[in-house]
Amino acid sequence: MVDFTKLKKFMEIPEAAEMLLKRPEKESTLSVNLKVGPNKMLIYSGYVVYHNLVLGPAKGGVRFAANVTLEETRTLAELMTHKCALMGLPFGGGKSAIAFDPKSISEFERRTLIKEYAHMLRDELTAGSYIPAPDLGSTPSDMAIIYGETHHPESVTGKPPRLGGLPGRREATGRGVSTIATSACRQILEKEIKNTTTAIQGCGNVGSYTASFLFEKGAKIVALSDVSGGLYSPKGLPIPQILDFIRQGKLISEYPDDNLQKIKNEALLELPVEILIPAAVENVLNKENADKISAKLVVEAANGPTTAEADKILGQKGIPVISDILANSGGVVASYVEWRNAKSGNQTSAEETYQFIDSKVESAFGKVLRLTKERKADFRNAAYILSVSELVAAMRERSWI
Ligand code: NAD
Repeated sequence: MVDFTKLKKFMEIPEAAEMLLKRPEKESTLSVNLKVGPNKMLIYSGYVVYHNLVLGPAKGGVRFAANVTLEETRTLAELMTHKCALMGLPFGGGKSAIAFDPKSISEFERRTLIKEYAHMLRDELTAGSYIPAPDLGSTPSDMAIIYGETHHPESVTGKPPRLGGLPGRREATGRGVSTIATSACRQILEKEIKNTTTAIQGCGNVGSYTASFLFEKGAKIVALSDVSGGLYSPKGLPIPQILDFIRQGKLISEYPDDNLQKIKNEALLELPVEILIPAAVENVLNKENADKISAKLVVEAANGPTTAEADKILGQKGIPVISDILANSGGVVASYVEWRNAKSGNQTSAEETYQFIDSKVESAFGKVLRLTKERKADFRNAAYILSVSELVAAMRERSWI
């Protein structure tokens, strides 16, 4: 969440704008029902949050996780407001979630549950008021099921390419993270990426493609994990082989290579690497471990991986943290292209998608870096200075304030 007290040390924010940015415009809770047999029902809680829609319709992924809450969904929607503003996209911030463990139900039950979710949100989805995409626990196939319910290709992004999806969307967030990590390495650490070591927590959509792009650039990925734990090798991991293995649905801890050490997620975060990339869940960098982080640079591929306490400690230790709204914005940038193509009938190649992401994130990184110097702000606040300035200007243009 934006810490307005801190942010106001670096910029002036009109009081009315601050009030509007501090609370979501709309929140709904859903009871998503799944009939699993005669007189047998599973009921899951669902949440939909529209944080701020001054720039456009609500854009943000749908999260499937057993422990997801309304509060978490709200925080994620707020991040989307700032991410879209920072990237100059015509979207507001939204997010939705269903509180279930994707591993606990069958494929058939999952499909039925997603259809029920799409059915409950049908008016918003078909009107284009809320445009979901994949997030933690959800996949392109799930987006295809939503599309199957709405029949509008622009109602959901992150679909498989042959169903109106965008070539390069699957890799998009990881692409943006790797581009930002490379620029940050060069411009902050004054090192080329090929001369650096990286540890990545999480190898789902975001972590796996981040690893793959960084490996292609010659970076040494010394550690990579999933929920089961991770692998570590000071010489660098064989990333393509490991990714082939986990894409068969296997856990990384089962990877059969005795030359690689097993490492716990907690230990991975404390490795003495140049770049640490948390790409799994939130709050993994917190007051318990922040003091022990010895990376030279943190790039937040996940949303909200650093708590406010950890942020302060890392700042005191002089470790720059490239914040989520900048680092993982490649996904929503590609979603914008997919949405635009769905409206216009245009088609875009994966290479064009990558180039568009690179130009957007590099331009935003350049502006953020300048602000860190001009206003002596940390990277998180520098990114918020830009997003809030954009949001305030839009609020003025719409006579909201
Ligand atoms: P995913 O479900 O594809 O992968 C999640 C990965 O994290 C898996 O490897 C899983 O095993 C691991 N994991 C789960 N719980 C863990 C834990 N407690 N400790 C360590 N590892 C754990 O999800 P994703 O789409 O890659 O999303 C990851 C993060 O990136 C989330 O914070 C999400 O909000 C953010 N994000 C995703 C996108 C996107 O386009 N998918 C875009 C922007 C931000």
